[in-house]
Amino acid sequence: MKKRALCLLGVAALAAIAATGWAQEAGYPIEIVAPGKGPYTFPAGYQTPWERIQIVVTSKMSPNLFVLHGSEGLDPAHPDASGGRAMALFGPDGVLMVDTENRQVAEKTLQAIRSFTNAPIKVLVNTHIHSDHTGANAFFAKQGAVIFSQENLRTEMVRPPQRGGGQAAPALDMAGVPTATYTYNASAPGQPAVTFTMNGETVDFIPMMPSHTAGDTIVRFRKANVIYIEDFYRNFGYPFADQANGGSIKGMLDAVDLIEKLAGPDTTLIPGHGTLVKKQDLLTYRAMLMDILARVKALRDQGKSLKEVLAANLTAPYDNTTQGDTQQSKDRFITEVYDEVKDFPPIVDGKRTMPAHP
Ligand SMILES: [Zn+2]
Repeated sequence: MKKRALCLLGVAALAAIAATGWAQEAGYPIEIVAPGKGPYTFPAGYQTPWERIQIVVTSKMSPNLFVLHGSEGLDPAHPDASGGRAMALFGPDGVLMVDTENRQVAEKTLQAIRSFTNAPIKVLVNTHIHSDHTGANAFFAKQGAVIFSQENLRTEMVRPPQRGGGQAAPALDMAGVPTATYTYNASAPGQPAVTFTMNGETVDFIPMMPSHTAGDTIVRFRKANVIYIEDFYRNFGYPFADQANGGSIKGMLDAVDLIEKLAGPDTTLIPGHGTLVKKQDLLTYRAMLMDILARVKALRDQGKSLKEVLAANLTAPYDNTTQGDTQQSKDRFITEVYDEVKDFPPIVDGKRTMPAHP
């Protein structure tokens, strides 16, 4: 009986939070460096000059919650700002990090953190497996961090999916594999799997449905009124669902809809790339996903080949308002939707065997 009462209180409290949002600290967030807008071009054979890439504090979400990101214009994978955003909550209870940036800039990421705190690195949570978010995991584990993630992310890391083009999976450093894992509960979307109370903040690790990958986590900082929403949403380049790692475009729609419930109107949403947004900014993205899904499905139902669907240039209406709208980004997006609307392979062991396209 007692347990049920507590549970109901929890639901009521969550509803109240969603309805009102939290009061964030006056004067925050502070944006220090905005990501670049492009367009960017790189010569054939260009190699990322990691030694030139800097990691700096790009925004402050509260007096002790900072966002870190890399240099503009050097990294062709993310030319607007190298790497995937990382975050650090710091204070007397130690540092809690969200994601770790690329392996090649691990020392610089630590130096950036050391520019504002000497506290020990204690906790690290990975929002998804991609190397711009987990590349320096082993480095930060050796600094003392315990790594948290969804169980699926750990599985993806230990047993990676087959990649097209005979690409070998990078060598695994077991020190960088998450040791504290949890799973997504489909009967309670939005429920935190882990909650930390430290440095005056309450931090929720919220496992997501298979969306950008099968192992996504969003991270909510209740007091700062901030949610790190990782890569199921993006506003630099077209959407990317890592289908081989269990992601899907339709799952990304579900993820957007969950944010609609979890975030208040003033909650700052921190994507892994692109600009910081509010939940209303997700609506045009959602509408584009729905539109492209419908258009690609109609063409595929008519028996059109992938080549024909790509040639139809379905993203044309969105090119003017989508930064980073390279041909590669468009083609990847449309190919994913094409694969998803018919005969989409099921997730087995957190992964999908995607069809090879010549
Ligand atoms: Zn990313």
